[in-house]
Amino acid sequence: MDLWYTEKHSDNVGITIKTTKTLFSGKSQYQQLDIVETLEFGRMMLLDGLVMVTERDEFIYHDMITHPALFTHPNPKKVLVIGGGDGGSIREIMKHPEVELAVLCEIDGLVIEKSIEYLPTMASAINGSNPRVKLHVDDGLAYIRDHQNEFDVILVDSTDPIGPAVGLFEENFYRLVFSALKDDGIMIAQSESPFYHADIQKSMYHNLRAVFPIVEMYQAFIPTYPSGFWSFAFSSKIYHPTKDFDHDRAKNRNFKTRYYNEELHRGAFMLPTFARDNIAE
Ligand code: SAM
Repeated sequence: MDLWYTEKHSDNVGITIKTTKTLFSGKSQYQQLDIVETLEFGRMMLLDGLVMVTERDEFIYHDMITHPALFTHPNPKKVLVIGGGDGGSIREIMKHPEVELAVLCEIDGLVIEKSIEYLPTMASAINGSNPRVKLHVDDGLAYIRDHQNEFDVILVDSTDPIGPAVGLFEENFYRLVFSALKDDGIMIAQSESPFYHADIQKSMYHNLRAVFPIVEMYQAFIPTYPSGFWSFAFSSKIYHPTKDFDHDRAKNRNFKTRYYNEELHRGAFMLPTFARDNIAE
């Protein structure tokens, strides 16, 4: 029997996707996890009823949370991902030959375990087969406290600022990230929808600007996320995301990307006026 699944994006608007079966449904100590089969978006992971990833459009999110930082930093050797238990970000990071080690710090071991089982194309680099990847099941806030001056790039691939992810949007956390980065480090965090989440964006950018000298928002089109218009925050100690971006390295990359390219890298930082206004100081 086909079932229509709806996620509400506001009190009056939502997205509805036809599903054919539930592959996994269970509760961890942190959240409800469901993995379902859909007709048009492949397999879809939900946390507490919210769409996290689908097989069909995950390439957009994972291209865009990873490559802008990795093609701006001149020599990204050590990368940390906080959240991201589906493995999609780590898979993209592994395409960069300079990266010697990528650490995944995901709070919920069930997300990692079930992604390996049901979302193998996303989880291909976190299934134990890649010696350049280390997994930690831990709260990102706790993990980062113990690490100083260590990472070239840190990616915050988190859920929305509810439950265990609340602290990942606060100034105190960004200070810990700043300390965990090397002197020329870069952090990227998913930063919600400019269309629906102006308030979250405003406080997030305020918190980031209190810590990082360079903070620039960029955008991507992600069909299954609220409004389809999504954003990321590039925060950095010294490198600017378009002035210091290594265009030639991006252009001559030896792997394929279906969303990211060297032209889009610059274009993504051009924002519509209402999105700029969300983060105006
Ligand atoms: N692509 C998704 C999105 O934007 O909707 C996010 C991916 S999802 C796999 C994010 C992950 O962040 C979840 O698995 C969740 O368990 C994890 N997470 C939330 N709070 C965390 C924390 N404090 N430390 C580490 N991981 C956390």
